[in-house]
Amino acid sequence: MNDGFQTAIIIGGGPAGLTAAYELQKQSDSIRPVIFEAGRIVGGISRTESHNGYRFDIGGHRFFTKVPEVEAMWHEVLGDDFITRPRLSRIYYRDKFYAYPLKIFNALGNIGPYEASRIMLSYIKWKIRPSKREDNFEEWVINRFGGRLYMHFFRSYTEKVWGLNPRNIQADWAAQRIKNLSLPKAVWNALTGANDTASLIEEFQYPRLGPGMMWEKTAARVQEAGGEVQLQSAVTRVYRDGMRITGVDVRSWDGAPEHTPVTTHVRGDHFVNTMALRDLIHAFDPPPPEEVIEAADRLKYRDFLIVTLVLNKADPFPDNWIYVHSPKVKVGRIQNFRAWSPEMLADPDTASIGMEYFCQLGDGLWTMSDAELRNLAATELEQLGLGLASDVIDAAIIRQPKAYPVYDGEYQEALEVVSSWIRQLENFQTVGRNGLHRYNNQDHSMLSAMLAARNILGEENDVWSVNVDRAYHEEFEIKKDPTPSSQAKTV
Ligand SMILES: Cc1cc2nc3c(=O)[nH]c(=O)nc-3n(C[C@H](O)[C@H](O)[C@H](O)COP(=O)(O)OP(=O)(O)OC[C@H]3O[C@@H](n4cnc5c(N)ncnc54)[C@H](O)[C@@H]3O)c2cc1C
Repeated sequence: MNDGFQTAIIIGGGPAGLTAAYELQKQSDSIRPVIFEAGRIVGGISRTESHNGYRFDIGGHRFFTKVPEVEAMWHEVLGDDFITRPRLSRIYYRDKFYAYPLKIFNALGNIGPYEASRIMLSYIKWKIRPSKREDNFEEWVINRFGGRLYMHFFRSYTEKVWGLNPRNIQADWAAQRIKNLSLPKAVWNALTGANDTASLIEEFQYPRLGPGMMWEKTAARVQEAGGEVQLQSAVTRVYRDGMRITGVDVRSWDGAPEHTPVTTHVRGDHFVNTMALRDLIHAFDPPPPEEVIEAADRLKYRDFLIVTLVLNKADPFPDNWIYVHSPKVKVGRIQNFRAWSPEMLADPDTASIGMEYFCQLGDGLWTMSDAELRNLAATELEQLGLGLASDVIDAAIIRQPKAYPVYDGEYQEALEVVSSWIRQLENFQTVGRNGLHRYNNQDHSMLSAMLAARNILGEENDVWSVNVDRAYHEEFEIKKDPTPSSQAKTV
C-alpha cells in the first residue's frame, strides 16, 4: 500500500477473524485490517440472530476460559454488558431429569438400585480388564466408566451429535471433551462435597444481548480504529505466487436477491484465514499439490439447525438448557433463552425455546421446510412433556453448515497433510475452529487469532498447537482452581 500502512486481509468476521483484527490494532498502528465476512452479520457461529424482537444463539454460547488475554478482551469490549448468569442444566433420559454435570447419587438414584449396581459392577469389570486398544471414543469411555454407564449416558447422545457410531469417532475427541472425568472421583466428590469445580460452574458469563453483542461491539471498535469490516463479501479465490499470497477475489452483494454479486480483486500484505480448511484449499490459485486437495476433501463436518419456538406462556422449565438423550426424539438439546438473559425476549409473558438438531447438509432434517421443522419441534416438545404444541405462536429456523469439525478415523492424517502445506506459506495463517479443524470454543478460536496477529508483528507462535496440550478442566475435576470460568467443552 502506498499510504504507509500494510494491509492484513482477514477472511471471516467470526470470533477469530474479529479478534485477529482487534489484536493487530491493539499492538500496532501500521497495519490496517480488512475483514471480509460472507454473512449478513458478524459473529460466525457465535452470532446472535433475531426474529420479531426475539434474540437467540446458534446453540447457547457460554463465555468461559482459562486464557487471561481472552477474558480481558471480553471485559474490555463488553464492559457492563457482560453479565453473570446462574446455570442450571440437566439431561433428559428415560422420562427423568438427571443433573448435569452428572451428580453421581442423583444419577444412581434416578436409575434405580438394580441398574446402579450393574453400573458399578461393569465399572469394576472394565477396570480389572480394560480394553488394550483405546483408539476410539467408545473404547476410551468404557475403559474409564465401564460399559453400562457408557450405554446410558454417552452412546445415544454421541450418536445424535455426530450421526456416527462412537466407534468411528477418534479417542482424542473424548480426551479433549471429558478429560479429568472419572467415576471414582465423581463418587468421592459426592461423598465429601469436594467438587470445587461444580460450585464454580453454577454461574457463567454472558453478554446481555447474546454472544453476537460481543462481536458486533468488536466490529464497531475495529472500524472506529480505521479497520474495515465488509459484510456479504465472500472470499472466493486466494492467489499465490510460489508460497507467497498476493491477494484475494471477493464476491460481494448488497443483499437484495435481484442484485448481481460483484467480484473484486484485493491485494494485501498479510492474510489470516478463518474459513473451513476444506473450502480454503479449493480456493487457492494456483491450486496446492493434488495430495493436499485430496486430504482436504477427507475433512468432514457436522451441520446443525435450531428451531426457536415462541410459546404464549412462561418458561416450561427453569434450566438454561436440557440435553435430550432419548433416541425417541430427534432433538438433541433444548435452550431456554430467558434463562440466558431476560433481554433475549421481546415479551416477558412468552417463552423462547431453542430446539437444537444435529444433522448433515442435505439429509432429511436439513431439507425439511421451515413449516415442517416448526411442526417437528412443537410435536417433540409436547412428546417430551415440556410444553404443548398448541402453545407455539411463532418460530424461527436457522441452519448452520459446518458447525462441528468431525474427528473421524482419517481426519488426523488428512489434517497433517493440509497443515504441513499451509505452514510453508510465507504471509498466510489459518486460525479459529474450522480454520484449524479443531473442536475449539470461542476462547481457543480467539487465542489462535491473537497469536496469528502477533506473528504478523514478528513473534513466532505456533497457532496449530492451541488447545492441543492445554489441560482443560471438566465437570468432575477436583483440583482447586481460582479461575471462575474453568469448565467443560460445550457440544
Ligand atoms: C451448537 C454450538 C454451541 C457452541 N457453544 C459454545 C459455547 O457455549 N461457548 C463457546 O465459547 N463456544 C461455543 N461454540 C463454539 C463457537 O461457536 C466457535 O468456537 C466460534 O464461533 C469459532 O469462531 P471462528 O471465528 O473460528 O469461526 P466461525 O464462528 O465459524 O466464523 C467464521 C466466519 O467466517 C465466515 N466465512 C466462511 N467462509 C468465508 C469466506 N469464503 N469468505 C468470507 N467469510 C467467510 C463465516 O460466515 C463466519 O462468519 C459452539 C458451537 C456450536 C456449533
